[in-house]
Amino acid sequence: MESQDNFAYLLPFIFLTFGLVFFGVARLGDSSAPAWGFGYVAAALGFSTPMLLGFLPPRGQAILANAFFFTAFYLYGEALLLRFRRPRLRKLRMALWGLGMALVAYFILHVGSPRGELLTSDAISVLLLALPLAAIVRDLHRPIDMALFGIVGLVFLETLVRLVTMIVFSANQSDMGFEHFLASDYAFFMQVGASILGFLMALTALAATVLDVIGGHQNAAHRDPLTDALNRRGFDRAVADLGEGAERGVIICSDVDHFKRVNDDYGHAAGDVVITLLVELFRRQLPEGALIARFGGEEFVAFLPGMSLTEGGVHAEVICHAFASRRWETTGIRRTVTASFGVAAVTRNDHSVHDAISRADSCLYAAKETGRNRVVIEGRQRPEPTAATIHNFSAA
Ligand code: GH3
Ligand code: MG
Ligand code: MG
Repeated sequence: MESQDNFAYLLPFIFLTFGLVFFGVARLGDSSAPAWGFGYVAAALGFSTPMLLGFLPPRGQAILANAFFFTAFYLYGEALLLRFRRPRLRKLRMALWGLGMALVAYFILHVGSPRGELLTSDAISVLLLALPLAAIVRDLHRPIDMALFGIVGLVFLETLVRLVTMIVFSANQSDMGFEHFLASDYAFFMQVGASILGFLMALTALAATVLDVIGGHQNAAHRDPLTDALNRRGFDRAVADLGEGAERGVIICSDVDHFKRVNDDYGHAAGDVVITLLVELFRRQLPEGALIARFGGEEFVAFLPGMSLTEGGVHAEVICHAFASRRWETTGIRRTVTASFGVAAVTRNDHSVHDAISRADSCLYAAKETGRNRVVIEGRQRPEPTAATIHNFSAA
């Protein structure tokens, strides 16, 4: 019995500590950490209700403890849905919380049945976890996602097994017999098991939130905030990650034409819109796996691993044409904005993709020199005016 008493003191303390640690992680900018934090504080309050609220009548304590545990399970679900960016299902989950409280109050105040109370408590907890687990099951991509799903899934299964065990056990028992069951070692070890899983769930959720925070910082260091394209550092890192995959492919360099005029005539914000739209076109046109980077103000570099020079040239032509022929007046810019492109292949003789980038840059320079709004492909004949150029001439 003594070990049970020690356990009763230790558990709220551990859960409260986890709650506070999650609040610390929340300050680093993780969106799901506050929900985990409040969830663990609610669980700590649930476990410590007899100690903190011992002055209340036992039935009042029981109702409050259930309220804290339902809140904890509600918040664990909230944290999962927030982390995986799934719909919050708030109305449904709050209705479950309310139903649980109504049933618990009914069993405690009207029927006086601890069996009914406990069955309700576990059934509602199972449902409060089942909904978010079902909502995120398709979004498990990284090992930490699977670990988190796995441990919350175990808490769900453990609660389910306990519920079924109690239903089977209590089928032929009086409430009196059921109370003996609750005081048994078996029930005690079931509680220990649940607490260990709660502890492991906290550790896993903590690892997930910390990894999310680190990933967020890494992303910020490797990406351009305006367009979310890679910056130079991110590009070099992504190329290095490709390994041998970076030995063949095509580089497209691009620079907006007379961009200074756009800024001067329509303001810096309009210039930013132009930059964003060009990146959007790159994203839409280029296949998955293409690395798109912003190298300077309005200069972009794309690497298309494994692609031929001809294919790369076609992609550049499509982007060039789509950019020049978009309806610029919808952005508040009452003129056609164009961009020039240079395309070069990465060859076996290149030390790195940067050799190809400088050749593509020379092609880009040639495109500027020969009239802008066109694509120059390494080693090909003098550039012909593109469809986009023809469009502009006819529009003028
Ligand atoms: P060219 O056709 O020869 O490329 O002419 P250009 O006017 O585009 O010349 P240049 O490439 O030298 O102009 C770059 C301009 O880009 C200068 C700078 O004010 C502007 N710029 C750089 N970064 C940003 C940015 O983040 N937002 C906006 N709006 N403008 C930027
Ligand atoms: Mg320019
Ligand atoms: Mg430039």
